[in-house]
Amino acid sequence: MKIMVAVKRVIDYAVKIRVKPDKTGVETNNVKMSMNPFCEIALEEALRIKDAGNASEVVAVSMGGPLCAETLRTAMAMGADRAIHVSTDTSLYPLTVAKLLQSLVAIEKPGLLMLGKQAIDDDFNQTGQMVAGLLRWPQGTFASKVELDKEKGMATVDREVDGGLETLCLALPAVITSDLRLNQPRYATLPNIMKAKSKPIKKVTPEELQVQIMPDLEVLEVVEPPKRKSGMMVSSVDELINKLKNEAYVI
Ligand code: AMP
Repeated sequence: MKIMVAVKRVIDYAVKIRVKPDKTGVETNNVKMSMNPFCEIALEEALRIKDAGNASEVVAVSMGGPLCAETLRTAMAMGADRAIHVSTDTSLYPLTVAKLLQSLVAIEKPGLLMLGKQAIDDDFNQTGQMVAGLLRWPQGTFASKVELDKEKGMATVDREVDGGLETLCLALPAVITSDLRLNQPRYATLPNIMKAKSKPIKKVTPEELQVQIMPDLEVLEVVEPPKRKSGMMVSSVDELINKLKNEAYVI
């Protein structure tokens, strides 16, 4: 069984985000970019499934500009067998990404499609659900534990929901999106990083996948969040209560 993993290139989680002066988006020039942390977790899980003998191949897919190739090289340095770059300079939103994945699934025919539960740049948390809907495959979202039964063709997925832990049984092929506690992703070793540099990356365009990039969303403006007011020290509990009641009006 083949596992396909969608890995997105995003601004590194540790970078302080700056909004562009023209308010059209956030600054990405000269900013450290990395694989989306939830995608790293999805990839790690796919690699563990393969290491346990339950999958034959892990294929990483990334969509976007030329630098996505770097993210795919990281994926291969972590252990992905192959990489596919859907090359486009147009901004991509979840429905288009889901359609591109649907088209790739028709070509690659994976038994499992894994994604991060959300990309930390746009915070949509929609792509996994949308692609499962388009494919009409069962979905296990926000997975905190995944177990595969190759013989029965089933995946058991634990999800942390408000009421506790929910366990789902999915008939394969299925879509699984990873939550934070699913695993601790491995680091790519230096020899593997060097080896990944010479591995080929298959490049396709949305046109070749017969997906038209729709302007499904229009970003009107991106602005900084309002600055937090500085804190102050109070000398007693009474003064604190008084301020909360008569100045902040919260009690
Ligand atoms: P989102 O719905 O945008 O929060 O993204 C959820 C997941 O969809 C991500 O963690 C990725 O696995 C996948 N995804 C979204 N955009 C892309 C992209 N441009 N390239 C590859 N995977 C993506």
